[in-house]
Amino acid sequence: MNEITLMALAKINIGLDVTGRRDDGYHLVRMIMQTIGLHDVVTVSKHGENGIHMTTNDASLPVDEDNLCVKAAKLLADEFHITEGIGIHLEKNIPVAAGMAGGSTDAAAVLQGVNGIFQLGLSTEQLMERAVHIGADVPYCLMGGTALAEGIGEKLTPLPKMMDYPVLIAKPPIGVSTKYVYEQLDALVHPPHPDIDAMIEGIRQQDLHELASHMGNILESVTVEKYPVIEQIKQEMTEHGAVISMMSGSGPTVFGFFENDASLREAKAVLEASGLAERVEATTIVGR
Ligand code: ATP
Repeated sequence: MNEITLMALAKINIGLDVTGRRDDGYHLVRMIMQTIGLHDVVTVSKHGENGIHMTTNDASLPVDEDNLCVKAAKLLADEFHITEGIGIHLEKNIPVAAGMAGGSTDAAAVLQGVNGIFQLGLSTEQLMERAVHIGADVPYCLMGGTALAEGIGEKLTPLPKMMDYPVLIAKPPIGVSTKYVYEQLDALVHPPHPDIDAMIEGIRQQDLHELASHMGNILESVTVEKYPVIEQIKQEMTEHGAVISMMSGSGPTVFGFFENDASLREAKAVLEASGLAERVEATTIVGR
């Protein structure tokens, strides 16, 4: 096998709480992660020239070691003394810096691709151990499905599969710095902590309304104030049929869960016409 093509799936956060800070400045989180159908396509191949050679359809992305794909390939190439060249091509489709772990999921796909092509024989668990050195979300991207992420996001517990409802994604045309969001959160005295355990119970009961009644993302207390468009998109979704809408990660992407495709289509049309979002996509819940 000289080439392998993988779908790198995006994630949303069904719930996100920040519970503290480590001495090194990293925030301690409790997040419910969920894989969705929106994805990039990553091709890993053997390359005639030594070194790592990356190309992408997205000219705004780096193709050197600043790209998590290259970091991931280098990590395995160094450890396993891979002397042949490695080619990586990324077809970017997941919005960048949008709270959907786009870079992390690409890195996870490259780890799987290099493992396969160079027959390293690493299990998913062994890849996950290495993945954390690339980024806190990368181990989760290898595992996928519905999971509780704790620590800095790397301590993972699989959860029962999230109910299979249609999902609408809308990304407003703004960039949100993750660093800024966490700094501002630190300055808040009593940010509203969502009840992650109650959300997990809602998933266990497979009850969307019970889950929705507890859903929350603590980072919204920073971003919604600074970027009112996030609240506007949330409102458009709930006014047009979403059972719940919420920001994913540190934003600015908003997602909504709908009871059926017809109500999702209505909300999608309204959002597209509103001009509030530069990207509006219908997608699905994906299990492990
Ligand atoms: P998270 O949800 O984990 O916070 P995100 O979706 O907000 O992630 P990414 O799309 O992963 O953010 O990208 C954040 C930054 O990482 C961008 O500024 C980008 O330049 C850099 N980056 C490095 N590699 C990639 C990649 N393969 N895809 C996208 N961005 C990448």
